[in-house]
Parts: sequence; C-alpha cells; structure tokens
Amino acid sequence: MSVLIRICSPSGAFSVSVGSGRLARPMPRYEVTVGLEVHVQLLTHSKIFCRCTNQFGGEPNSRICPICLGYPGTLPVLNRAVVDQAIRLALALGCTVQPHSVFARKNYFYADLPKGYQISQFDEPIATGGRIPIDDSRSIAIHRLHLEEDAGKLLHETPGGGALPGKSLVDFNRCGVPLVEIVSEPDMSSAKEAHDYLQALHQVLDYTATSDGNMEEGSLRCDANVSIRPVGQTELGTKVEVKNLNSFRNVARAIEHEIDRQALIVDAGDEVLAETRSFEASTGVTRLLRGKEESHDYRYFPEPDLPPLVLEEARIEAARSGLPELPWDRRRRFRDTYGLPDADAELLSSTRRLADYYESAVAAHGQDPKIVANWVMTEVLRELKERHIDVDSAISPERLASLIALIEDGSLSHRAAKDVFGEMWECDEPANVLVERLGLSQVRDDDALVGWVETVVAAHPAPVEQYRAGEQKVVGFLVGQIMKESQGRADPKRVRELLVETLS
Ligand SMILES: [Zn+2]
Repeated sequence: MSVLIRICSPSGAFSVSVGSGRLARPMPRYEVTVGLEVHVQLLTHSKIFCRCTNQFGGEPNSRICPICLGYPGTLPVLNRAVVDQAIRLALALGCTVQPHSVFARKNYFYADLPKGYQISQFDEPIATGGRIPIDDSRSIAIHRLHLEEDAGKLLHETPGGGALPGKSLVDFNRCGVPLVEIVSEPDMSSAKEAHDYLQALHQVLDYTATSDGNMEEGSLRCDANVSIRPVGQTELGTKVEVKNLNSFRNVARAIEHEIDRQALIVDAGDEVLAETRSFEASTGVTRLLRGKEESHDYRYFPEPDLPPLVLEEARIEAARSGLPELPWDRRRRFRDTYGLPDADAELLSSTRRLADYYESAVAAHGQDPKIVANWVMTEVLRELKERHIDVDSAISPERLASLIALIEDGSLSHRAAKDVFGEMWECDEPANVLVERLGLSQVRDDDALVGWVETVVAAHPAPVEQYRAGEQKVVGFLVGQIMKESQGRADPKRVRELLVETLS
C-alpha cells in the first residue's frame, strides 16, 4: 500500500519526507500549491481591547473582564501597543502598512466565544503584500496581514489532567489576546517550502520581539491550504484546508499526507472536495472536520464600536527606523563579513540572541571569526543543551573570547582549554585565573618537556625501533603519549621537535 501511495505521489520534491525518498519516483504528474494562514499572538502587556493581562496560562478564568467577555454595555478600546507591534511585524515582512483600516465583526457561535462574534479585520486589513525570503534565491509572497482578537479555549480534561468523559470546560483567559493573521499567497509548491516559510517567519518574530512564537503554547498556529493540479494546468485545483497544526514538522507531515490523499482521489477519476480537515499527529492522517465555510457565512460587517484605524505616516516611519537587522540580512552579513560557510552563518543567525552572542565574542578580542564560530557552534551549544538553558545563561561572550585568546597565543593547549571551558560554567573566574588554579598552563620549558619525552621513549621501545627503521608516522603516536603524560599541558609543537632530536 505504501508503495502504491508513493507511486501516485505527485512530486519528488519533498525533503521533509515520511519514510520515502529512496524509491525512484516517476515524473511528477501533479503540481502542488500550498498557502498558509498563520495566527501569531503579539507580545504586549495587555489584551487588544481591555486591560487584562496578556500572558499564557494562569488560573483558568482569572484574566478576564466584562469587556473581553463581551458583557452588554461594554465597549472595546484599541490597545496602542498592539497596533505598534503589528506595524513593526508587517514592515519586517515587507508589507505595505495601510493608512486606513477597518475592524469588522466575524459572527459565529462557539462555546469559547462568549460574544458570539470575533473582532477581526475583513476587507480593509492593516497591511497588504510583502514577502518572506526562505533562501538566497527564493521568497514567498504574502497576501495580507490583519489584526484580530483570540477566542477562549475548551479544555477536554481538568487542568490537573483528570478525564472528563462527555464534558468540556471553558477557559476565557485567551479571549481578547491580540493576534495578527498572516495569510500567504498560494505560493509554495511543497511541504519543504511551507516548513521553510514558517521557520523564516518564526525567526522574524524572534528578531523583532513581536511574539514569543511558542507553538506549544499556541502563540503561533498554522492552517494550511493544499491543492494539486495536473502539470501544465493553469487553473488551481480545489483547495482543502488543514486546521490547527501545532509544530513545523506536523505542518510538513499534514501537507504531504494531503498531497498523497488528493492524488489518489484524482487518479481514481474522482473530484477533491472543498473541505476543512484536521491533522492527527499520532497517525499522520488528515480527517474531515466540516465542509468548507466561505467568508459570507460569517456575515462580516464593520465593527460599530470601533472607529477606523488611521495611521499617520510618521508613526509608520518611526516603526520602520526602529526595525533591527533581519535574519536573512544578518545571515548574509555573517557570510560576507566574517567569511563563514553557509551552514555556520545560518546556525549562528538562527536566533537574535545567539547571533548577538557570537558577534560579541568575535568583537571582544578581534579573533578569527571562524575559530570563534566553531567554539560557539560546538562547545557552547552542547553545554547549553546539556544544561537545558538558553544562551542568556551561557558564560559571557567576553570570557569565551579570553579563553580562545589563551589558545591562540600558545599559553593553553586545545585539550586543556576544554577543561577550563567546562570549569568556567561553574564559577565566575576569568580564564587565565582558572588556568593557573587548575595547573593547566601550557608547558614550554625544555627541561620539563625533555623529561616527559624521555619517559615516553623509554616506555615504548617498539615504536622507537620502528621510527629508527624509517617509519616516520610513529612520531604522531609518541607525541600523543607525551601529551597524555603531561596531562595535556605540553606544547605539542616543541614536543615534536624535541622528540625528533632525541630519536635521531
Ligand atoms: Zn479583559
């Protein structure tokens, strides 16, 4: 069955693939079109239309008020900080911020929506257009970005994790949390591109500090619209929406499954139906949720309690001038300025704080950027992972740089540096003080070195014989033994010279 599915698979272009890729694939017969709708919770102190705290979690129904519960007689007041965050994000994504936009009511019933409508934006959103670069040569077009309020949340078990057979609880804390919805054009042609788009968007949220982007907590939620069409057909196929995907990986898996499912339907001569489906992570399969709703089903009309949002040019320009360097620009600069390979530049610019850390370490002693990159990418990241901490809690970049400086000027061997590095996480002492305290400074004094050389030569008569018989390569082995004897402190270059002298 899985082979059949793979042969029907329309495209061979997925690198995020579910157990496939090794089978030789036929020429693709279908083109894939993917568009993403991403909801992002904005980082602000308070909610979009009231003063309630905008923060994840909390005792259920503790961060609520008559406004976010939609009591009769209350009026929403737009939070200025929400608008500033939306402008900032829109500009970072290359969108055009509209000087005039309008809030609208989107009417529907759901148990987590006490007002019976959601305040959103419909035909006049705050921003339009834009693009997200996913690599040097490819960017994905954005259709629009609009503001809206979040709804509450249904709990299908008790907050303590107990089962609630046949019942659900409702927590309204999330009602009125500020959201932007970013709608892409149907501009992606594979699960891989959708994954890369989300990853790039996630980096922009991090760099601009407009959202924490935490998918597990629902700060970033994604719906995918997927359709296929025979290669060469200009008209797009019928799109299917897959709702509420909660990880990058599940977005890719859901899209792949949907492509295979639709290809089987079309191959069988049937029609793909416009519908909304959910993704089941445990099985990797999408399931029918409901028929596709259209925008007219929501009976949108302009929100009578809020005036149009009018933005002055100066406010937009102030936001533009406050934008940080964006991830793709930083990645390019890491390559151009520091001469880093692509993979290094990409990893080191993956979050703003890691990129800042790296640059501070390079600047501290003006060391070779590639050597500093290697230390950050291997030793520092490994230590962070083992300690389950983030880069803010790492040893300071200045201390890291001072350690690397000791290796560069020959006072510390690479091996001993790793020991000092480990110790640096346990205390605040500078690298040179630690080197002394641990007795690890590199030994370059000939008397001490000759002592170790002679011990090792005496202990290894066989390799010494081999060397004298012309086998030069045993020198490496003997140098290794001497380094061991010295507990990593001997200057390996001088050791080699002394060893060769002793042997000849
Ligand atoms: Zn409230």
